[in-house]
Amino acid sequence: SDAGEASPLPAGLSLHQVSRRFDSAVALDDVAVSLPEGRFSVLLGPSGCGKSTLLRLIAGLDTPTSGVIRLAGRDITRLPPAERDLSMVFQSYALFPHLNVAENILFGLSVRRVRKAEQRQRLERVARMMGLWELLDRRPSQLSGGQQQRVALARAVISERPVCLMDEPLSNLDAKLRAEMRVEIRALQKRLGLTMVYVTHDQVEAMTMADHIVVLDKGRVQQVATPRELYAAPANTFCARFIGTPPMNLIPAHALAGQRALPEGSMLGIRPEDIAIGANGVPARLADIEYLGADQLATFEIGPETAPTRLHARLPAREALGDTGLHLRWHTEAEHLFGADGQR
Ligand code: ATP
Repeated sequence: SDAGEASPLPAGLSLHQVSRRFDSAVALDDVAVSLPEGRFSVLLGPSGCGKSTLLRLIAGLDTPTSGVIRLAGRDITRLPPAERDLSMVFQSYALFPHLNVAENILFGLSVRRVRKAEQRQRLERVARMMGLWELLDRRPSQLSGGQQQRVALARAVISERPVCLMDEPLSNLDAKLRAEMRVEIRALQKRLGLTMVYVTHDQVEAMTMADHIVVLDKGRVQQVATPRELYAAPANTFCARFIGTPPMNLIPAHALAGQRALPEGSMLGIRPEDIAIGANGVPARLADIEYLGADQLATFEIGPETAPTRLHARLPAREALGDTGLHLRWHTEAEHLFGADGQR
């Protein structure tokens, strides 16, 4: 066979049994995951779950204690950052205050000694695409937060590297700008076919931007799924609690004793929007109501009054809730059953 004819290896990333231990902590424990070429992958998890450590390992800013990282099939585990085919955008935009926008965007290309004519061509294309064309002479201090973020993105985009890493790039922006930049970054990734690895602790960012989400907790991968799969079928109680506002109700089997025969130690999960009020069902006491406009968020208690279980239900705001004789109902298809080990 002719090796020269072989199709190029895809620019996907894969991690094989990657662990990172510090003296005091195991930041990553046996992580095996693949982040496919041209797709938007989000690393999602609470503070301290290991997501930044994972991104730093991919970037080459840190080295795993054990395991292998591959990019396009090539072992890059111990390669210096500059020799990996990737760009990176940080939470702090890391713009140079003494350089103007053009110089900031071109910084990496100058270091790599790309020809001046080529630099000018790429700058014009990227600056126009990202709405920075009119701002090229300004200093970072003369830009809004959103514009600074766009300069940081432009600097990554102009490198024309197939893989882009982002660590909480929107956390310094206000809510409105964050929502706009989510759309912008997603559109950019699609347009350029970038392999994106995006770190966030924000489930809304993850759900709206990702092709697939890698959920991390305590240094371990909890689930890899599309946003829809993750919502519809969380792999364990951690994922069930982490996604959704308010999160899924997890009812211990004993709280439904007499209503439903469930295996001992198991948990029944019901999303708040899947609960309805009915003439029969699980008897419940109303504990609290929060008015949200279109909806109301009701908190109920079920089970014995001495040891109640609390449940949240998202109900239409027009639905009147009496004080007595309330029953909660849901369809069997809306039930998620988790074993005593927390697994689906
Ligand atoms: P955050 O969202 O708060 O940044 P994270 O999910 O990115 O959190 P990491 O920064 O990856 O989490 O940290 C994972 C774990 O590893 C934490 O327990 C952290 O304390 C520990 N850790 C990270 N870097 C170091 C280090 N250089 N030395 C010792 N422990 C570290």
